[in-house]
This record gives sequence, C-alpha cells and structure tokens, in this order.
Amino acid sequence: MKLVAIPAFSDNYFWLWHQDGHAVVVDPGDAQPVREILSREGLHLAAILVTHHHADHIGGVDELRVATGAKVYGPATENIPEPLIPALPDVPFQLLGQTVQVIDVPGHTAGHIAYFLPDAPQGPVLFCGDTLFSGGCGRIFEGTPAQMLGSLDTLAALPANTRVCCAHEYTLSNLKFALAVEPNNPDLQNYNAHCKSLRAQNLPTLPADLGNELKINPFLRSRTPTVRQSVAEHSGLSVELQNDDITLFAALREWKNNFR
Ligand code: ZN
Ligand code: FE
Repeated sequence: MKLVAIPAFSDNYFWLWHQDGHAVVVDPGDAQPVREILSREGLHLAAILVTHHHADHIGGVDELRVATGAKVYGPATENIPEPLIPALPDVPFQLLGQTVQVIDVPGHTAGHIAYFLPDAPQGPVLFCGDTLFSGGCGRIFEGTPAQMLGSLDTLAALPANTRVCCAHEYTLSNLKFALAVEPNNPDLQNYNAHCKSLRAQNLPTLPADLGNELKINPFLRSRTPTVRQSVAEHSGLSVELQNDDITLFAALREWKNNFR
C-alpha cells in the first residue's frame, strides 16, 4: 500500500493510496491533479472518499466519477454530489484490501466524518479532512465547541502510531499559535524547527504522528494545566469558567480565530 499527498490549490492535500494498480482518493477538490497522477502511475481509481461538503473537498468528484467510474463514499447527512454511498460509523467497509472505519467528527461541519484504516501495513492511517490539523484544528463553522472537543477526543484516543492525513498544510501557522499558548513546551519547539526545515525544502509536514500531536497540539491539550492557565490568562476567564472543559476549549478556539 502506497500513501501519497497530492498538493492542490494554495494549501490543500488530496490524499491517495494505491495497491496493485488500484487507487482511492480522499477529498478531491479538483480532478486535474488526481487525473495526472492516475495516468502517470497507470492507476485505476476504484473509489472516492469525501469527509465533508466544502468545495475544496468535493470540486473534482463528478469529473473523476465520470472519467473513472469510481464509487463515491461520503457523509449521509451532507450535500455531496450523487450517487453517493453513505459512509456510516457502524458499517466498516473494504477498499483495496483495507478495512475502512468511519468516525463521526462533527464541528467544522455538522456531518463531517473521518476515515480510519486500522490495519494499514505501516501503521494505522486517519483521513480527518478539516477536523484535526497538525498543531491545530478546523474552524467551527456548523457545529459547537462541545461537538468539536468531542470529535478531537475521539481522534486522540486512536493508536499513538496513527498517521494523521490532514487536508491542509497549515502546520507552520498553527505552530506559531501553539507556541504563543505554550512557549516553554520543548517538544513543540523541536517540532516547530523540524517542520520549518521541511517547508524550507518544500516538503509536506504531513502525515502527522498522532502521538506527537498529543504532545504539541494545544487543541488536543486543552485540559493540561499549562494550556488551561495560558488560555485563562489570555481570555480573562474566572477560576470557575477555566475549569469548564468546553468553555476553555471555546476560548482557545476563539483566541486562534483572532491570532495573527
Ligand atoms: Zn472545510
Ligand atoms: Fe478544506
């Protein structure tokens, strides 16, 4: 099984995996870069997985379906181009010899889902769309802070060696914010230096390592004393409010929304 990040637009990645000449692509917001890799590598597109309804994730779905006959899986409750096979959390399915589990991760959008490959050969793989980013998380457009925190808690509980395939290269700007929240976190300082050098070589910082994210991503660390204290100070939360997990998480997300 080979896992490939296809860069697109200004900062998207369309993730593709292939095995024995067959491929699956996740969130193709544009057909062209996907068609290029399919023809260059001689791959047949078996399926398209969609995490949520935003245009930068579905813009290429129709063209790819018509060109290849690929089956399309996506969230049952969002407006995704038909015909669609609804991807449901209690119904795992098989693609190219891999078990695909569906995880509900509402928050960025109301019906956002993630796809998890628990048995992938070099360790589990997660395609999480715009829910979890390296060093950050998606903006809360349709859901609530409570939903987003619950979704991130679900993802944080996956195996630590999970490779996290995020849909955007937002890592450096996320880490700039993370360092404002936790300036003295040595793991964060080291990871920031590592990612800076990757980007200087025009290399992706992804997939991210879930175990590392637990050490550096403030949105997965909102209950740790350092993050809690930092957010409380920044947002002027009372002691009572700063001990409320959802209020604290909402204030952290709000801080990031306004951070430059
Ligand atoms: Zn989105
Ligand atoms: Fe997006």
